[in-house]
Amino acid sequence: MFDVNQIRKDFPILDSQVYGKPLVYLDNSATTQKPLCVVEKLTDGYLHHNANVHRGVHFLSQDATDLHEGSRRRMQTFINAASSDEIIFTRGTTESINLVASSFGETFLQDGDEVIVSAMEHHSNIVPWQLFQQRRKIVLKVIPFNDLGELDMDVYAQLFTERTKLVSVTHVSNVLGTVNPVKEIIRIAHSHQVPVLVDGAQSTPHLKVDVQDLDADFLVFSGHKVYGPTGVGVLYGKRQWLEQMVPYQGGGEMIQSVSFEKTTFNELPYKFEAGTPDFISTVGLATAIDYVESIGLGEIAQYEQQLLDYATEQFQQIPGMRIFGQAHHKSAVLSFLVDGIHHYDMGLLLDKMGIAVRTGHHCAQPLMQSLGIEGTVRASFSFYNTMEEVDKLVAGVKRVCGMFGVK
Ligand code: PMP
Repeated sequence: MFDVNQIRKDFPILDSQVYGKPLVYLDNSATTQKPLCVVEKLTDGYLHHNANVHRGVHFLSQDATDLHEGSRRRMQTFINAASSDEIIFTRGTTESINLVASSFGETFLQDGDEVIVSAMEHHSNIVPWQLFQQRRKIVLKVIPFNDLGELDMDVYAQLFTERTKLVSVTHVSNVLGTVNPVKEIIRIAHSHQVPVLVDGAQSTPHLKVDVQDLDADFLVFSGHKVYGPTGVGVLYGKRQWLEQMVPYQGGGEMIQSVSFEKTTFNELPYKFEAGTPDFISTVGLATAIDYVESIGLGEIAQYEQQLLDYATEQFQQIPGMRIFGQAHHKSAVLSFLVDGIHHYDMGLLLDKMGIAVRTGHHCAQPLMQSLGIEGTVRASFSFYNTMEEVDKLVAGVKRVCGMFGVK
């Protein structure tokens, strides 16, 4: 049974006071808090299992390697990949997309080729492609979204040409909360023989993601957003692509043999993992996934939906309130502005009441341009938030409105 009060006991930070008030943490899209079991796992790793992986014949190195490779298999089951060889550990979503832009780009993209992204992408799914434009003159095509914050699928279907080589889209928008129909996006792309990268940074913490069911060619996510440690993330890629792609970085681990005349590369997944991996954090991430799945992603999605519905209902009654993102299928993110109140002022004043929200462009400036605004206030929920915390948010927003004379 889902019991939020019991769950909160696993997150010591939620008992914090800020400015003498209980912390109300509503910045979960930026990063999630860590359950005790994850922190204990990291400590245990450094205290009892610390030796460099893959290289050692000694016991401790074997032990660390077993734990690290066990975590890879845990990532495989988490997203239902066909093989653990298709799981590449990276520093996070950003590094994973940079890897694909660089390696897929180098291998498959020529001058004049096209990559489709959407107008609601995080900068980390825009800038890597622009950086690649310094190597090849690729063209970025953009799927627009409608007033509800849903992608225009008719326009999307029209964007394909003979030069389209990749679609790279977010599963869930970190600003609008929209859950994009990625299965349909992939189906359409595949009917043109075009592979798809899914940015799962905001979906993996909230819904069950199954790469084989989606038929995704690449899926990327960050450990720190799924209740795991910072500094580690995943790139899933279908073997057929990863095997053909040139390596991203060079160094130890990713080679089979090196001489000054010729170097041969290691097999998957090591070909893409140059240098010592963060083998302590990968184990912490596996523990986080165990924790999340022990609660159940179905239960999480259901409970967070209740939080979102309740908060949305309350917000709609506040005069001057504008909510950005009203998609039919939406994750627990509430981006808003109140007429006459700058998002930054709203964020600062809520903070003084102990309520942590994010303000600004949320690393999605093109999205802001589409909306014709500079930024929003964003409250993003997790399964450890409560209805009482939603009440505090609503009361806080109303209080700020009162201070600005917006009634
Ligand atoms: N994509 C989306 C949709 C995101 O929300 C974020 C983080 N805000 C990222 C990518 C980047 O993730 P990271 O900073 O962990 O690499």
